[in-house]
Amino acid sequence: MKNIIFIAPPGAGKGTQAKMVSEKYGIPHISTGDLLRDERNSGSELSEMLKQEMDKGNLIDDNIIVHLLRERLNKVDCNNGYILDGYPRSVLQSKIYEDLLLELNKEIGIVIYMDIDKDLALERTLSRLICSSCGASYSSASLELKPKIDGICDRCGHMLRVRGDDNPEVFSNRFDTYLRETKPLIDYYNSLGILKTITVLKNDTAQDVFNKIEQFLK
Ligand SMILES: [Zn+2]
Repeated sequence: MKNIIFIAPPGAGKGTQAKMVSEKYGIPHISTGDLLRDERNSGSELSEMLKQEMDKGNLIDDNIIVHLLRERLNKVDCNNGYILDGYPRSVLQSKIYEDLLLELNKEIGIVIYMDIDKDLALERTLSRLICSSCGASYSSASLELKPKIDGICDRCGHMLRVRGDDNPEVFSNRFDTYLRETKPLIDYYNSLGILKTITVLKNDTAQDVFNKIEQFLK
């Protein structure tokens, strides 16, 4: 399997798709957000500093992310490919990542970009329900993602709630900012010839989107 970088605006369903690819192809899903959170809670030398920076909402230095990525990508489960999620976010970071790949003797692989219309992303995001206990995610707008009993988690029986930060205005700003900041990176990967764009359409199920992604994995 190739190494895969996943890039998608909010509301595209990136988490769901990364999980599906990871499970079907048996490759790890590496989220730099998770790497940072794990390190922060690990009690390591770095964790105190990470705690302070993350609590202040500061961006984490590239050197630290690269350090964590180097350790993670060196593990044997990455030898047959991995999904990278949350990094790189800029052309500068992509150059830093390429240096790391060179050092680790790994290929950059392909970049999957999930394109989605803003209104559709908004609709999908606002219909999302999260379990207050186990964190499972549901959607009231999709038959396949609806809970079996309204408002109740299938997995653990606790109450579902709407995500607090999902209101139209906040979402719209987040979406626009994401596109603006990511555009140069998308253009850069396109120029390298490794960008694979799939479009999420209104009636697509998670499986439909997965089928579109899979055509680039074979
Ligand atoms: Zn639950």
